[in-house]
Amino acid sequence: MSDIQEEKVKVLVRLRPLTEEERKHGTRPSISASTEKRTVTAIKGHGMQKVVYSFDSVYTAFATQREIFQDSVVDVIDDVMKGYTSTIIAYGQTGTGKTYTTEGDISEPAAYGIIPRSITKIFETLEGVLYQKNRVTCSYLEIYNEELTDLFGEVNNDQKLEIMNDGDGTILKGLTEKVVKNPDDVLSLIRKAVQHRRIGETKLNKQSSRSHCIFSVNVYSTKNDAITGTLVDYHGKLNMVDLAGSECAKAADLGSRSHPSSSERERERKNINKSLLTLGRVITAVRNASQGNKSMRIPYRDSKLTRVLQNAIGGTSKTVIIATVSPADSAISESISTLNYAQAAN
Ligand code: ADP
Ligand code: MG
Repeated sequence: MSDIQEEKVKVLVRLRPLTEEERKHGTRPSISASTEKRTVTAIKGHGMQKVVYSFDSVYTAFATQREIFQDSVVDVIDDVMKGYTSTIIAYGQTGTGKTYTTEGDISEPAAYGIIPRSITKIFETLEGVLYQKNRVTCSYLEIYNEELTDLFGEVNNDQKLEIMNDGDGTILKGLTEKVVKNPDDVLSLIRKAVQHRRIGETKLNKQSSRSHCIFSVNVYSTKNDAITGTLVDYHGKLNMVDLAGSECAKAADLGSRSHPSSSERERERKNINKSLLTLGRVITAVRNASQGNKSMRIPYRDSKLTRVLQNAIGGTSKTVIIATVSPADSAISESISTLNYAQAAN
């Protein structure tokens, strides 16, 4: 337990490469990163000002999907196998690699993100000789405008899910838990869910960058204790959260022509702003509590996102925040805002 108590929240930053498009337009990098020093340097105002940030881990544009998983996620999976809840959260501007990092390209194993790699690791572990029985289930939830959609539910069932209080946590009544037997089952479920999401987006005329998605895996196992020879039951849970684009919380983003009326847009913006701010506050409060300041109230109830994650952030749970950043000079102000958010959580 003691290692779990020490570091409740870890913050990593991942820089993505400049895109073809950005290179063609002569975009220059304004952010540099050092994996060794664990620092990110942002250059503001035509090289006039350098700001250096430090994090638990820093990944450059050269970091592979495998490297990130091995370095920063494998331990998290070990905790899940021991019955803990762990949560991995991707935060950043749209187009910086949140989905690439969490999901990846699921048609190409080398480009698999954290979700497929975690699932593979979980099933590999369950094949160990000490495991007697297991049951693995997955759910996929979308939060848009403070409304909850079951991405594994019936596509044409628009019924929204309700959050219910359950002792000191919350449960989602009616959320589909799909039993999965192997990693391929999970990949095909994700493909279907992506379709589901697209249909919903077309109906509501929204973009996926405006919703938060939470993919969760429950691992129930019975393991033979090598020392005592007794059977022990475990229930661990892994949540992977792909947040709405951080720029969607900003007023300056209003007024795009291809979108619904600005009042509706304003409501979306406020909801995204509220959930990202509340998430930041919850993480700060959890971190303070783990450093001995127990008096601080953890404001889980202030947004749907944090209510859903109430059992998954704080307590004995571990949280990993991955802030994804574009190196482009054109994105510098948004990148600095992401780095500041991540720094506050660090
Ligand atoms: P987000 O989910 O934050 O909006 P995406 O994950 O969709 O961003 O990434 C935007 C584009 O950049 C995608 O085409 C993705 O494949 C690519 N990309 C993002 N991060 C990386 C990376 N680290 N290496 C290579 N390509 C990346
Ligand atoms: Mg995305």
